[in-house]
Amino acid sequence: MKIAVIGTGYVGLVTGTCLAETGNDVICVDINVAKIEKMQNGFLPIYEPGLELLFNRNISQQRLTFTTDLASAIESAQIIFMALPTPPGGDGAADLSYILGAAKDVANLITSYKVIVNKSTVPVGTADKVKAIFEKHTNIEVDVVSNPEFLREGVAVEDFMKPDRVVLGTRSEKAKKIMTELYAPYVRQGNPILFMDEKSSELTKYAANSFLATKITFMNEIANLCELVGADVDSVRRGIGSDERIGKRFLFPGIGYGGSCFPKDVQALVKAADEYVYDFEILKSVMNVNERQKTVMVNKVLKYYNGEITGKHFALWGLAFKPETDDIREAPALYIIEALLEKGASVSVFDPESIENVKAIFGDRIVYAPDQYEALQAADALLIATEWSLFRNPDFNKIASLMNERVIFDGRNLFDLEKMIDLGYYYNSIGRQLITRPKNTNQLQAQINELA
Ligand code: NAD
Repeated sequence: MKIAVIGTGYVGLVTGTCLAETGNDVICVDINVAKIEKMQNGFLPIYEPGLELLFNRNISQQRLTFTTDLASAIESAQIIFMALPTPPGGDGAADLSYILGAAKDVANLITSYKVIVNKSTVPVGTADKVKAIFEKHTNIEVDVVSNPEFLREGVAVEDFMKPDRVVLGTRSEKAKKIMTELYAPYVRQGNPILFMDEKSSELTKYAANSFLATKITFMNEIANLCELVGADVDSVRRGIGSDERIGKRFLFPGIGYGGSCFPKDVQALVKAADEYVYDFEILKSVMNVNERQKTVMVNKVLKYYNGEITGKHFALWGLAFKPETDDIREAPALYIIEALLEKGASVSVFDPESIENVKAIFGDRIVYAPDQYEALQAADALLIATEWSLFRNPDFNKIASLMNERVIFDGRNLFDLEKMIDLGYYYNSIGRQLITRPKNTNQLQAQINELA
């Protein structure tokens, strides 16, 4: 099939590449000229595991091309995907200007039947709004389909190629047939294509993300309570996760959810409910608790130093909002850096993929280390904000030799408590026993060595 994808971000580029992989002819279009030029020259603009292989293969086999020219991109396309941003507007509701603007541009250009597929996360009623734009600007027949995307950054290719389910909101039999044919290669193992009306499809996406954000937030609250009552969140997690009604996934506590989706989608659903005079209380609490959770690590640091961190130097491992991505949108690490700087501390950071993105925000206000150990030079404490695999089994002796003190604040519970006791670290994680040791033990050890 001939397909155009408008918007080549994390969703659009994965969608376009994975659709090309099953033999479709795909043209990706974006208004970002530098990004398109980069891709025309064969370079991926984002880090997403597994994407590069498919990207290169489909470009070389001429099934995947890139342009900034919308007219040529959609001319012969039978299906037009919109994978455009839907950021929060000033009032927290999803800003639909990208979607509605692109719909108008497409409507003014088309000369034959198209299926317009909305992959962006949009409020209930957006398909109707898009349809109304086409009715206003063209006499050409179109079907507008809601097709929310459930891919997770970091495993996006796998998620797209083998989705748990494909949700398609349309009441058009013609569009259903075309979309079923398009998605057939991706659901061969029997995972369902779920057809529903457009509004239910649009709401399904918000419901999924809000439910997951609620699950994480609930676990963060349990973790906070564990610390107060002296319980262990890992035990509680296993205790409830083995109940099939609850499930094992999304139960790991941390320092608040971030990313380009959960924060904005929860907020947008609350706002959409408000518009229908429905008070979505649980989600309002989720948002409040998450804001509080983002401050947990810095509060722990301040407590350790009796509220005074001026002149202290911190190493921060992990900047992306989660591992295996370079996406730093709403990443808790950004909050942590800002708060530490504000309180007069200095910060060295390391992340395997997102350093360049963070540079664009903090410039020379912080130090960017080329590897995880370099970031530790003369640090008073190590803070961990993202659970990249390479942080899981570090050389603790090397860490101790580089830092001023053996002090770790771990927002992702990477290390075994017994091990941290044996190694003599002060180790403060989330919802688990606080491992304490006398301050300045490196200095104490030096004195002992001198006396010996
Ligand atoms: P993104 O910001 O990474 O990409 C959006 C792209 O659209 C950018 O490259 C931008 O230049 C381009 N663009 C903007 N206006 C344009 C126009 N008029 N014509 C052509 N291109 C234009 O966004 P994303 O993360 O891919 O998200 C896109 C949508 O998908 C959002 O609604 C998001 O909520 C949803 N979503 C995202 C994810 C995710 O993990 N990132 C997952 C599921 C759903």
